[in-house]
Amino acid sequence: MRGVYLIFMLFLSGSLVISCSSNPYSKTNKVYKKQAKAYSKQLKQLPSQENQNESALNYGEYWAGTTNFNLRKPNYVVIHHTAQDSVQQTLTTFTLPRTQVSSHYVIAKNGEIYHMLNDFYRAWHGGVGKWGNNTDLNSSSLGIEIDNNGEEEFTDLQIISLVELLAEIKEKYKIPAENFIGHSDIAPTRKVDPNANFPWKRLAEEGFGLWYDEAEVEKLKLEAEFFKPNPLAINFNSRLNTRIPFIDKLVFPEVIPADFNIENALKIIGYDTSDLEAAKSAFKLHFIQEDLDKAFDSYDLKVLYQLYEKYL
Ligand SMILES: [Zn+2]
Repeated sequence: MRGVYLIFMLFLSGSLVISCSSNPYSKTNKVYKKQAKAYSKQLKQLPSQENQNESALNYGEYWAGTTNFNLRKPNYVVIHHTAQDSVQQTLTTFTLPRTQVSSHYVIAKNGEIYHMLNDFYRAWHGGVGKWGNNTDLNSSSLGIEIDNNGEEEFTDLQIISLVELLAEIKEKYKIPAENFIGHSDIAPTRKVDPNANFPWKRLAEEGFGLWYDEAEVEKLKLEAEFFKPNPLAINFNSRLNTRIPFIDKLVFPEVIPADFNIENALKIIGYDTSDLEAAKSAFKLHFIQEDLDKAFDSYDLKVLYQLYEKYL
């Protein structure tokens, strides 16, 4: 009997050693658990009558806790590249308190997904940013980092894992397609990730993010290209040269009106246009993905117009 007990103890201590040595993050996992416990405690706190009594607000005399609630859930997904040299480097970065950065998921080059934070907690991946009127994306989003040095291609295995992960997240939290965005979209003056190799078009085909109809873009013409001034009317200051917008739109739907406002269209998609040039660059990085050094040209304008017409 004693022998069996000894063997059992040896087996137990052996498996403990194996489990500790096999996870290089066991130390920081302990810190995670401790912090999660502290937040759980905070969540359990009831609105305190004492604090209400001290407050200048006119609270009712008793506490009436509702029976109907659940946890807040994410409604956006922000995609990043890590701009680091390996997934190990990123896991280390996200487990060092001094870095003050993290994300919910990290996807390695071999397609392995590291889930680093419960989806209901707030990760620190977005920093200062804005999308529409949302100025605290960290509170409403999940952050997904893809291991990539900032310039290289993403691996097929990474994209396969990403698409599977996004499908699960989209279904679980009912996130609309247009709320799958990139870090550069929410922080155009500061960020350029994910880089131009990121397959936004493929993702949009799977239901994550917006994309335009390329064939429709080819048909579009600028008003100035389409309506040449009528040479017969030049000397008469005639109404023949005056466009009537709603009629033009019906008769010539492929013509982009001269007064189409780039800034407003970018704003409606979600971009912070307080630095308009930065917003245009972020748009190009996401939707054009080439000639990024060149100014916003007529093709870029057509893509923006097509997106605007298609979704907004
Ligand atoms: Zn980022």
